[in-house]
Amino acid sequence: MARTEVQDVLQGERTIDGSTLQDELETVDTTLDAFRTVDIPDGDLNGLPVSAKENICVDGFPATAGSKILDGYDPGFDATAVKRLRDKATMIGKTNQDEFGFGTFSTYSAYEIPKNPYDTDRSAGGSSGGAAAITAALDTPHVALGESTGGSISCPSAFCGAVGLTPTYGRVSRYGLIDYANSLDKIGPIAQSVHDAASVLELIAGKDERDFTTADRTVPPFSEATVDLDEIHIGVPEEYIDFEGVDDRVRDKVWSAIKALEDRGATYEKVSLPKIAKDYALPSYYITAVSEASTNLARYAGMRYGLEEDPSHQGFDEYFSDIRTEGFGMEAKRRILLGHFARQAGYREAYYIQALKVRQLVIDEFKRGFKNFDVLAAPTMPIPAPRFDAVEDLAPTEIYAMDTLTVGPNLAGMPQLSLPVDTVEDMPIGLHLLADHFDEETLIGVGKAYEDQIGFIESPSL
Ligand code: GLN
Repeated sequence: MARTEVQDVLQGERTIDGSTLQDELETVDTTLDAFRTVDIPDGDLNGLPVSAKENICVDGFPATAGSKILDGYDPGFDATAVKRLRDKATMIGKTNQDEFGFGTFSTYSAYEIPKNPYDTDRSAGGSSGGAAAITAALDTPHVALGESTGGSISCPSAFCGAVGLTPTYGRVSRYGLIDYANSLDKIGPIAQSVHDAASVLELIAGKDERDFTTADRTVPPFSEATVDLDEIHIGVPEEYIDFEGVDDRVRDKVWSAIKALEDRGATYEKVSLPKIAKDYALPSYYITAVSEASTNLARYAGMRYGLEEDPSHQGFDEYFSDIRTEGFGMEAKRRILLGHFARQAGYREAYYIQALKVRQLVIDEFKRGFKNFDVLAAPTMPIPAPRFDAVEDLAPTEIYAMDTLTVGPNLAGMPQLSLPVDTVEDMPIGLHLLADHFDEETLIGVGKAYEDQIGFIESPSL
């Protein structure tokens, strides 16, 4: 991965040659299966090449969200994040993902399953797997728009050695994003460097009349954010670094990355934040996420979007049931059932309402942490990207447990930055930095200091 400066391209100081990009993309896509659709104009590109995850609507591209039930759906409009990039960037394609964002390894895609650019027998992570895979593999300047509900920007970025910047909930408009769980979904950049991610976040962030959950806050010049490491105090939550699921080699590398920041002036301290641990954040996240997902998926009935059949021969219930049986994958069906169960009369208090209460405890716990620390640091994922055959052996609950380190900050709506700091088994390892609500500047500043003073891992070669 070339550590490119997209700023030059965004400011019109460098043009991208379409035919070079076309050649590069062909290799990348044949090797990695990362794109669902590609469309590169002939000749020089008008601005920065950007891509969007399949669940982000882009005029001129189909949007399936990785699901067969949306096969053929052509939104015909731009999501706000895409629209805001239009005059400075060229949309080159849509990237493969887990169906509706349900997953951690992108193996729940109804289409191509993206592969890891460091080892194609391994997962690119999920659910924004395609976005991270191409970003890490391309030499041409490029930024991918990913989406995170419970870790889908950080996880694939860590597995593929890219930089993933998940903004605070409400920082970037969700208008034009195909909903997974409305109270959790965030669009954010996956890039080749912190500088690049910050430059794109700056362009897509800010209040949007079409999404009333966007925050009415001025967007700081993220691309210029810097910090003095001497003034940065890092908290290392023991519930994350000492989580029993973390591979010892990953733990060691993440400690080394934190100590490298200490060598350049930062201070760090271990801290206990019990409510962000697995027993609280993971069940609260999954109950909330599947509850919201199950209502969102009710709109797919084979009538207004995507997959359709001739309904004349049967009643509505049969048509509805047949099309959903055919169009939804296993994991989507599981989540519809779990979500309905958690919200149904008689169980609602015990599950859904309880999950909301626990969510508040998680938020309060993070807030407590940020009273004493500028950033919290942890491994992004407990293991390096697993091989596909190992993923096959995992039970759904084991897959959910892989998200232990990412669901907490997503439940709390905290901004997150995953940095490719080292390798284990020649596979990238991510350092996960978390900051308080709307403090992306500190995250970006620390990330840039790392990138400039310590440096990242080698790019994959395809
Ligand atoms: N792996 C998590 C889930 O399946 C997160 C996915 C996401 O952020 N879209 O819900």
